Amino acid sequence: MDNLFVSIVMPAHNEEAVIEKSITKMSEVLKGIDVHRFEIIVVDDGSRDRTFSLVTKISAEAPHVKGVQLSRNFGKESALLAGLKTARGDVVITTDADLQHPPKFIPQLLDQWRDGTKIVHAVKRDRSTDGWIVRLRARIFNSLCSRLGGIDLRNSSDFKLLDRSVVDILVRELPERERFYRGLAEWVGFKQATIYFDVDPRKDGQGKWSLAALLNLGVTATVSFSIAPLRIVTFLGALTLLFGVVVAADAVWSWFHGTAVSGFATLEISLLLLGSFIMISLGIVGEYIAKIYQEVKRRPPFIIANTCGTGGGVNEKDRTSGEDR
Ligand code: UDP
Ligand code: MG
Repeated sequence: MDNLFVSIVMPAHNEEAVIEKSITKMSEVLKGIDVHRFEIIVVDDGSRDRTFSLVTKISAEAPHVKGVQLSRNFGKESALLAGLKTARGDVVITTDADLQHPPKFIPQLLDQWRDGTKIVHAVKRDRSTDGWIVRLRARIFNSLCSRLGGIDLRNSSDFKLLDRSVVDILVRELPERERFYRGLAEWVGFKQATIYFDVDPRKDGQGKWSLAALLNLGVTATVSFSIAPLRIVTFLGALTLLFGVVVAADAVWSWFHGTAVSGFATLEISLLLLGSFIMISLGIVGEYIAKIYQEVKRRPPFIIANTCGTGGGVNEKDRTSGEDR
């Protein structure tokens, strides 16, 4: 398409080892295809290494590179949102900064978009390069989310193409603060498509997801998409009631037959069971209250400390013909 403007959004947290290479590779791919103009927005999510100074250096020479530095580590979800807010393209592609989302698939994403698809998900075909714990974790996480949240996240990733109209909805019309990008991108609807890619092993640096961070994401994902856990609480209550009725019937029956009500163990077990049901339920209800509390505070999901570069340089080969839009 003439005049197509593509924005790449890359959240980066302590990625000094790979960021230069990522930007270079991404630029090469974009220069090689038929886009009029592109920008690469690196959102530095509170890195403690040289990530942002490297981006600043690159952006001084490359007009299509732009850096946004958050004031601290807000997490990938917030970094993605910061990137989506900054992006000005007709099409926005979100991708990791560690080259695990191979830039060579971008032409495929764009092909789908040209066919009228508003959202293209790039899904990992195979995680065999990850260790088995990571794979197991991902599998459990995704299947739990899809069961509880009713959104299929199996093997999904944050490597996606979004049409401008979808970006506007995500950024302007969804007021929630704590976000789960993968889920939201499915939730908005429109014509969606999926392409498959193979994951490259992480070349340098290391995976930034601690188990705690992953669990946190899982809870956010579930709590923001579904009230199923609350239903489970109700279900547990009903189950306990049924249990109570059976025990009561047994007690009455024993009373009529002159035998003693079965003893101490029953009492102890039911007490413990009930106690744990109640505490778990309180915890679940608490998660939702915490979510309400966080949303109600209306704090910004991220704070921008610094920016560099202008972004939106015209593609080399179009430079003579391209006027700024
Ligand atoms: N990331 C981020 N903030 C964080 C953690 C990660 O912006 O708090 C970025 C990271 O730099 C990378 C992407 O999110 O570009 C995915 O992170 P990582 O490679 O650690 O996770 P995985 O590949 O296992 O999903
Ligand atoms: Mg990665």
